[in-house]
Amino acid sequence: DKAALEAFRGVATKTADGKQVLLVANIGNPGDATAALEHDAEGVGLFRSEFLFMDAKELPSEEEQFSAYQKVTIAMKDKPVIIRTLDVGGDKEIPYLDMKREDNPFMGFRAVRYCLNNPEQYKVQLRALLRASAYGDIKIMLPLVTTLDEVRQVKALVETCKKELDAEGVKYNQDIEVGTMVETPSASLISDLLAKECDFFSIGTNDLIGYTMCADRGNDRVAYLYNVYQPSVLRSLKTIIQNGVKQGIMVGMCGEAAADPLLIPVLLSFGLTEFSVSAPSILRTRRTISEWTMEEADALTEKVMSLETSAEVRAALQAAAK
Ligand code: PEP
Ligand code: MG
Repeated sequence: DKAALEAFRGVATKTADGKQVLLVANIGNPGDATAALEHDAEGVGLFRSEFLFMDAKELPSEEEQFSAYQKVTIAMKDKPVIIRTLDVGGDKEIPYLDMKREDNPFMGFRAVRYCLNNPEQYKVQLRALLRASAYGDIKIMLPLVTTLDEVRQVKALVETCKKELDAEGVKYNQDIEVGTMVETPSASLISDLLAKECDFFSIGTNDLIGYTMCADRGNDRVAYLYNVYQPSVLRSLKTIIQNGVKQGIMVGMCGEAAADPLLIPVLLSFGLTEFSVSAPSILRTRRTISEWTMEEADALTEKVMSLETSAEVRAALQAAAK
């Protein structure tokens, strides 16, 4: 099987009838870029920048962050690299940020909420990202967005940082793209509005499933509810992808579901154009994509979207799997 997979190295990622999509990797630290390339990733779809913060004893400086982002983008050559700004809180704790204990951290003061309430601190990361964008194709991505205002506020901060860098004579990519994770039910429901304000979407199914089903991904007792085959989750994915496609922006997915061979035909049919998966899943995902024509994927998806339970959906996808 390993040898068979090697046939998918070095080729474009296409469906059986030739529709091309982008197949990129999720990474956690700059060193992972090498593994991503070894597994033939076409770029990075999610660099979880919180690892830079979690491995440190205090806030990483602009220089430290710049050098990490620059390292990734240089390693990836001219390939696209989506870097997500700090996604702190929930299951991701950073002791020195000295955040208050909350009864309900998954619905609390976290991610883009925390960052927008600490704009001077957030600007350090945005400036580092802008500076690194002079060395490759870096895109900025926001975590846990729930409102249009959050996106507008981040974009305003990016503009402030650009002006500062201009005044200092520092180079950066003027046209740097700013996009958002779509990983909350609110973002999904206003994805038509967000699509007008964002350069791209990346769907975070890990959180989206949890928030849609009100089921913590780490809780065994509600694990039976936590899956991507739930009709509510599928309707949400369809809404997000179609709203993005309608607006002409790239819609990708960086949650685990992007590598689920059962779900891939459905994602193709909805119009997903970027799949971001763990490095070891790259070649296998490229093969799965190559096994489907759009006509087959559309027919299967039409059938699946008429089913009423996650068990029926899973069974139908399993029966159709190649
Ligand atoms: C997600 O929520 O799907 C995601 C990719 O982000 P994380 O797993 O880091 O929360
Ligand atoms: Mg998430």
